[in-house]
Parts: sequence; structure tokens; C-alpha cells
Amino acid sequence: MYTCQNCSKKLKISLINMGSVPVANHLLLKKDQSCKTYPLEVFLCKKCKLYQLGKRLNPKIIFNNYFYHSSYSSTFLEHAKKFVNDICKKLDFTKNNFILEIASNDGYLLKNFDKKKFKVLGIEPSTNVAIIAKSLGVNTENKFFNIGTAKFIKKKYGNPKLIIANNVLAHVPNIKVFFKSLDIIATSETIISIEFPSVKNLIKFNQFDTIYHEHYTYLSLSTVEKILEEFTMKVFKVEKLRTHGGSLRIWISKTPKKIYNSVLNERISETNEKIFETNVRKIFSKNAENKRKKFLNFIEEKIKLNKIISAYGAAAKGISFLNYCGPKAKYISSVFDKNKMKQGCFIPGLNIKILDPIEIKKLKPDYVVILPWNLKNEIKNELEFIKSWGGKFISFD
Ligand SMILES: [Zn+2]
Repeated sequence: MYTCQNCSKKLKISLINMGSVPVANHLLLKKDQSCKTYPLEVFLCKKCKLYQLGKRLNPKIIFNNYFYHSSYSSTFLEHAKKFVNDICKKLDFTKNNFILEIASNDGYLLKNFDKKKFKVLGIEPSTNVAIIAKSLGVNTENKFFNIGTAKFIKKKYGNPKLIIANNVLAHVPNIKVFFKSLDIIATSETIISIEFPSVKNLIKFNQFDTIYHEHYTYLSLSTVEKILEEFTMKVFKVEKLRTHGGSLRIWISKTPKKIYNSVLNERISETNEKIFETNVRKIFSKNAENKRKKFLNFIEEKIKLNKIISAYGAAAKGISFLNYCGPKAKYISSVFDKNKMKQGCFIPGLNIKILDPIEIKKLKPDYVVILPWNLKNEIKNELEFIKSWGGKFISFD
């Protein structure tokens, strides 16, 4: 039986079982290349209220050659730029303040900080992504963030004024070690900004496709606050964001001057949504099952009519959705994606080829299934030309 990554209690309460599936970001380089599958099931820890995967894969297996580059989505680039602009106005930085980003990816966010004013460092565990960041002139250490790395940074660079950890918390196989490492590197002067997709939204809007092996935990403010009780850190402000189908940005400090009302409001909202209750979990897994049926009916119906169905967006989310739907998803002729590194590869578990979106005009699909529903409008605008041959968009969100 699986145990909780935070408090070691046995995990007995299941939210959803998505079967045994491949690691979503492990694209195949060749057709029919063998790929391993692993159980994908989310549990709730009764004691500490942490939603988490039962089976935790070694992060070295998952993140070594990570295909995801933040810079491929214009929505995220804008989000990052706005964040940096806002923060430069709000925080009273002084010259040469140290700004640290954990999981800095290809430098998409840090590149927005003025290098003449700040000392900037990114930590990025994926080797190939870290190389890209460095080539863009973003100072990067190719490491996993843990206690050893926290001590190393403190010694080499000093204490940061600001720590940014956007969309990394769920990727951490041991959340306690992550906060312990933050506790080591942060001083009473440090402000920490953390963004994570909210499990409240995942449950409320049935975003089961955001569940995959790379996401070890599914977080809420109340659970993070519970984990923080062990440390000297406190959440003092909460912001709601539209990224990843609804995220929270929480602000943490060791010595907050003021606790904003937004903290209490989010706690109340999480209680009102009953996110830890049995009935809500049952409805969630039932709705996921219904979406799978809807997708499979669509495929069967259109294949009978000899329609060409393709999909857009070979991100982990889409791959998770397709694998959960099962072998019939193979009838999708191809998946289009702008990321050059993904083009020519195949979707693990289903062997669907990933193509450059330029090919859409040649293949003229009757349907384009939009897999990353969070970027739906952006994609519809970009591909509006499919209407010229009667092509239609469809999504199952
Ligand atoms: Zn627990």
C-alpha cells in the first residue's frame, strides 16, 4: 500500500484511478518504440489532507530531458512578463538584490529582469532546458532544488531577496524537503512567491487531464498551510490566477507584517467547495468517466463517416487525456505542436505522430481536437484558417 509523502500515513482514499499509462512527457523517438507504463492514481491523505499520486516515480527518470519549454506559449510569456513588471513596482528592491527562481525552465521569466539592476539565478534540473537558458544569458545552475542545493546557493550567492517558484511545487516528489530547503535559504528579509494549480479548480472543473506522473501532488492553500506549520514560514497573501485552469499565487514570509484578507477568503472558499469530501470525489471520477465516453463516441461516429480527426497540442495534459481514453484514441491521425523538439516524435502509448502545424493545411483534417483547453482561444485564433475547408474545432473540457 502507498504511503503519504508528507506524513507517511497509509493512503486509502482514492480520487481517481487512471490506469497504467506511460510518462506523459516521454515522447517516443521512433514509431512502436517500447515504453513502460506505470500506475496513475491520485489519493487523499486522511491525516494531512494532501492529494497526491500513490506511485511516485524517481524524478531523475521523469525530468532528465524535459520536453516542455515555457517559451512556446505566448500566454505564458505574457504572464511571466506581467509578473516581473508588477513585482518590480511592488517590492522595494535595492541595487544588486538577489532574485532566485526555482525550476527556471528556459529562462522565460528571469530574462525579464534587468540584469544591470539585479543578481539573477535560475535553478533548473533538466539539462537540455538549462543549456537553452544559459545560451540566452540567464545565469542558471543545472540542479534539483533540495537541501544540498539550498546550502550551496546560500554559500555561493548569498540570501535572496525574492524567491520565485512557479509551477514547480507539484513536480516535487517530497514536498517537505522542498519547504525545508526554502527554510534554509530564506531569511526574515526574503519574500517567496509560489504558484501552483489549485486542486479546488481541478475538482470543481473536472480537470483530470492535469493528473500525470510529473505531478506528484495536487495542492490547496489549506494543505500548504498545514505543511508550513512545521516551519517558521507563513502565507500572508493569496492571488487567484487564470493559468493552468485556475492557479493560486501564494506569498510567504518568515516575518509577515500583515496577513491579507485574501488568505482567509481562500480558506473559506476551499471549505465551501468541500474538496476533501467523499461525495465530491465520487462526482469527480464519474464526470471524468463521462468525458472519456463522450470522446470515444465522437471518435467512433466520425471514423464511420471517414472523417479525418487530428489533435492540437502534444503537452503532457493532452497525452494524459488520450491515454486515459484508451486505444481508440489511436484513430487520431496526428497531433500538431509548435515545439520543434516534439515534431517527428510519437505520443507514448498511442504511437500518434507529432507534426509541425504547417502540415495542417496539407492534411486538411475535418476535426481538430484542442487538447490544452487552457489555451483554447489562443489556438482557435491561430488556426482559424481550417474553416476554409469546413474544418471544425472540438474540445472535451
Ligand atoms: Zn499525509
